[in-house]
Amino acid sequence: MLHRALLVAAALILALLALPLSGLPSEKEPSAPTPALTMDEPEPDLPDLPEEPVPEEPVPEPPASVEEMAEAPEVPAAAETLRVRMPDGSVEEMELEDYLWGVVAAEMPAAFDEEALKAQAVAARTYTCYQTLHTKENHPDADVCTDYRCCQAWISREERLEKWPEDKGEEYSDKITAAIQATAGETVVFNGQPALTVFHASSAGRTRSAQSVWGEDIPYLVSVDSPEGEDDAPNYYSVVTMEAGEFARRFTASYPDADLSGGCEGWFGGETTDDSGGASSFTVGGVTVTAQELRSICELRSATFEVECEGDSITFYVTGYGHGVGMSQYGANVMAKEGATYTEILAHYYPGTTVEN
Ligand SMILES: [Zn+2]
Repeated sequence: MLHRALLVAAALILALLALPLSGLPSEKEPSAPTPALTMDEPEPDLPDLPEEPVPEEPVPEPPASVEEMAEAPEVPAAAETLRVRMPDGSVEEMELEDYLWGVVAAEMPAAFDEEALKAQAVAARTYTCYQTLHTKENHPDADVCTDYRCCQAWISREERLEKWPEDKGEEYSDKITAAIQATAGETVVFNGQPALTVFHASSAGRTRSAQSVWGEDIPYLVSVDSPEGEDDAPNYYSVVTMEAGEFARRFTASYPDADLSGGCEGWFGGETTDDSGGASSFTVGGVTVTAQELRSICELRSATFEVECEGDSITFYVTGYGHGVGMSQYGANVMAKEGATYTEILAHYYPGTTVEN
């Protein structure tokens, strides 16, 4: 069944995308990847200001195929209340708009432009609708959870206010409330269905297509230009260096057939690029791997990178942060600062969709 295949794909996507994020080296110490890959490390601290990183994008459900979406029954109106699985495992009933406040507050710096916050609010509402239509195996008793690796990041008002600078709390809180209220009930729609509004922190000039990253052709998740750069997004460029032996240990754990004998100069080759212009696959020791897989193995901020071997060291020069599909949050902020409205931002990053109430 297609559905079963999609669930397997979901597990793979989780494994591929969740691993590198949890183990990312600290932003300020980019050259020392942690020795072990683990999914148990805490979520990175949430941002207060745009200078700080936007938390990683949520890991999407396997996208429903276009065919399946076309056959899906009529979209139910967005539920007024949601069952939210909290970090302690309890399930709380929450008003949709209250839940969204916590998502927008966790997913995007409140200092961002109002139109970017509105775009985030609509994307988060749409993503929530999409999720409520698809039962989550991780929590069949709840519509959504607060773990960004499964659903979307979420933070309580109390916790959020503690983390914002004291003199900014009210202003930021009101900005997020305003973004949600101004877009009340609005979602991104494709073919009468809520779109899979995945997003990420920053792109390397162009977003990536769902086809390139997940092997699933989604008409509105295609590669588009994204305007952010070094001056807009923190750690837009990052560097990860590791000993060749460490790389070989990690790589052969996943690909035991790779031949990583001799110096590392000869290990990498066969680079292919996708329609974003970023690398999509490499050969490593004679084995073909996707850039996303290398991102995961080496805990890179994105799969857009160049790799260099010098002596006994392998260095990855990485651009952007996240899987690169759908809306770029820093790109949305640049567009907003240049005068784009939230509907223009959403139409840009999800081409062919409309915002509907
Ligand atoms: Zn979840």
